[in-house]
Amino acid sequence: MRIFSGIQPTGRKHLGNYLGAIRGYVEGQERGEGIYCIVDLHALTAGPDPNELRRSVYDTAAILIAAGLDPERCILFRQSDVREHTELCWLLCNVASFGELSRMTQFKEKSEQHRQFVSSGLFFYPVLQAADILAYQTDEVPVGEDQKQHIELTREIAQRFNSRFGQTFALPVHRIPPVGARIMDLQDPRKRMSTTASTEQGAVYILDDAAIIRRKFKGAVTDSGKEIVRGADKPGISNLIDIAAAARGVPPEAIEKEFADAAGYGSFKEAVGEAVVELLRPVRERYEQIRPDEEAVDALLSRGADKARAIASPTVAVAREQMGIGPVRPR
Ligand code: ATP
Ligand code: MG
Repeated sequence: MRIFSGIQPTGRKHLGNYLGAIRGYVEGQERGEGIYCIVDLHALTAGPDPNELRRSVYDTAAILIAAGLDPERCILFRQSDVREHTELCWLLCNVASFGELSRMTQFKEKSEQHRQFVSSGLFFYPVLQAADILAYQTDEVPVGEDQKQHIELTREIAQRFNSRFGQTFALPVHRIPPVGARIMDLQDPRKRMSTTASTEQGAVYILDDAAIIRRKFKGAVTDSGKEIVRGADKPGISNLIDIAAAARGVPPEAIEKEFADAAGYGSFKEAVGEAVVELLRPVRERYEQIRPDEEAVDALLSRGADKARAIASPTVAVAREQMGIGPVRPR
């Protein structure tokens, strides 16, 4: 069982990233071969400051290790260290159509955000993501619900490639957690909690301290009424119930039951805040120990890249050959 996932570099990883993806990575180490990639090449599509981008890879690596990734038991690396990703991306660009890339909702949303300059990198983002996944003959991709369309595209690209050029890629499946696959913004619970689109108060960051987390939950937008139950007309409370359930590792029904007699939303919001404080506290504490030693982080990312390259390179070589790239007799 091979598990692959990529995550964008930033020190501002939020609760949605943690519950929707990172926890699944840690669990993936138990079930199979976990390959996790910090996607600095994807991050370029948002036009980051170069020094900030370079540093944020260490931030993310430290967060992932603090969350429980063990570089002895999984492969953790920086995307740009393994050139196979960019090469395969170009090959796959010729198998993905302009029309299907134009239909990607993430592209549409992000091009709205970056209105003054929409890079073509943003347009090809899903193809690079497909290359990331397919280069490793991946079985499962633990990512949040927002990535469903990209995983479907990845499968489509793999199938098209295989039928046109011969069997080359495994077909990956999308794995989402039972609760927490789509955490919503605390200030605007009809929108996903997001690194780029959420406000400071709308997102809870893994590295926020306890006082800030409590304050954000206290200020979370709720709905009219008093009952603590999930429902389409109660996006704020539904989100808080899901967060509490995911944080405590119980089903959402158990949270509804526990708070059935609560006097109002105030005490419930406090309890959710407390559950998240307890969930994130050990991660933040370990992060503080790991982050300062950049040399150590670099060393393990570079070992990770060596292992990743050894897996990706034979598949990319096959893809090249199938497409007619290279000399008649491969060297
Ligand atoms: P951006 O908004 O810039 O795309 P992001 O918050 O989505 O940033 P990513 O690094 O793109 O962060 O995503 C990392 C992982 O977190 C992905 O697997 C993604 O599906 C998951 N994820 C992102 N937001 C949420 C959320 N609100 N709930 C659950 N999972 C999420
Ligand atoms: Mg994202």
